[in-house]
Amino acid sequence: MAESMRPARRGLIMIMSSPSGAGKSTLTRTLSKSAAETNLDLSISVTTRPKRPSEIEGVHYHFIDRASFDELRERDELLEWAEVHGNGYGTPRKPVEASLKAGRDVLFDIDWQGTQQILERAREDVVTIFILPPSMAELRSRLVRRAEDAPDIIAKRLANARDEIARWEVYDYVIVNDDLERAYEAVRSILAAERLKRSRAVGLGDFVERLLNETLP
Ligand code: 5GP
Repeated sequence: MAESMRPARRGLIMIMSSPSGAGKSTLTRTLSKSAAETNLDLSISVTTRPKRPSEIEGVHYHFIDRASFDELRERDELLEWAEVHGNGYGTPRKPVEASLKAGRDVLFDIDWQGTQQILERAREDVVTIFILPPSMAELRSRLVRRAEDAPDIIAKRLANARDEIARWEVYDYVIVNDDLERAYEAVRSILAAERLKRSRAVGLGDFVERLLNETLP
């Protein structure tokens, strides 16, 4: 079937949250880079957190100072924002709106506070996924293995992990990440199914009507 004959659909917002170290960033990055996953933009947040050695400005985050963060907030240029582990994090509004307007889906890697702010505004077009670690012991060893944060930061992140995990019921889907490959397949399946939802299709009624009125040779 020619692509143009397919009914169109509205762009969706897919949010992934989890405590630090549960593997969410790897999942969101793999998904947004996957060749099979066209039509999906990753939202790049702003943060006041210092850059980790492996991170790249504009790829992982836009690293900004507190004054610039406050200014963005005041000018209402953040779709949502939150204080996480003592730093400011927020989603720039314009790129998300541009993607959705162009019919593209947008993937968010944000915490539960940001998730709630977005759900309050646009429940219908939002799909939420929570990634859980297989155990707290495994979460700690992932944070230590990553070795990009100082020990006191790791301790803070572990303490905050409990608060984050306690919010699991806000989410539509919950995935236990005990195997990255399997977790990745689960996320892809969710995206594929959500894209096919009848409520998200535009002009499906007209499409079906044309189908039923089609005269066969
Ligand atoms: P990290 O410092 O490990 O990159 O991220 C810490 C936490 O902040 C993660 O749970 C991540 O999902 C969350 N986060 C990252 N960007 C944003 C954002 O733009 N908004 C909100 N609310 N949380 C964010």
